[in-house]
Amino acid sequence: MKSSETGDQHLSCVYCGQPVSTQDHVPPKCLFPEPRPSLITVPACYSCNNGLSQDDEYFRTVLVSELRVSEHAEAQKLRPTIKRSLQRPKAQGFRISMLKILKKIPLMTVGGLYYEEGIAMKVDGSRISRVLERVTKGLFYHHFNRPLPTDYSISVHSSDTMEKTPKAMNAVLRTINFIKGSPKYSIGDEVFSYSFAVCQDEPNATFWVLGFFNTKPFWVFTMPQEKPSE
Ligand SMILES: [Zn+2]
Repeated sequence: MKSSETGDQHLSCVYCGQPVSTQDHVPPKCLFPEPRPSLITVPACYSCNNGLSQDDEYFRTVLVSELRVSEHAEAQKLRPTIKRSLQRPKAQGFRISMLKILKKIPLMTVGGLYYEEGIAMKVDGSRISRVLERVTKGLFYHHFNRPLPTDYSISVHSSDTMEKTPKAMNAVLRTINFIKGSPKYSIGDEVFSYSFAVCQDEPNATFWVLGFFNTKPFWVFTMPQEKPSE
């Protein structure tokens, strides 16, 4: 887990800029069943590395509850772990928020979760976004060897919401065409795969396609924060 011998001399947490005390896995290691593949690590402070693990578990449960994901062999291996983590006595608050998701799923069968098409899960989007923002900051650091500047913001979109906003879709289609030529990275039998593109005249403006368990990806943008208009 710790790999401080990597010669990494950057002293700031890639997420918050505080002094570094540990290495964080990108994406969260809880998404990978044992035995885990070797994962990307980035310098992080203690609280960024440990304080958000409930978000990570929430993200995992939401993903694995989704039909196409739950059919993925690696996702199925995670289900006993998820069940155990929901049974922990300390997990009560967490369990309640998870139950809100799971009870939207109509049938729990012996064969596995059955997710009827057309029934939307009620998902806490801000928690999902927090996880994906961290993944993006981690990947940004990993590929560019510098943290995303603090005056840049990150916006996270699901493929579904993008498809419902044709205007936004058109705006990024050119980028998508561009990204097709970019390499696709994959970790752990497609538990996580991603590709990215960088804006030509703005090296901190980036576009990421983050896929988990080979299902519809999330789209993430980093861009300069808008200055308040007068
Ligand atoms: Zn931090």
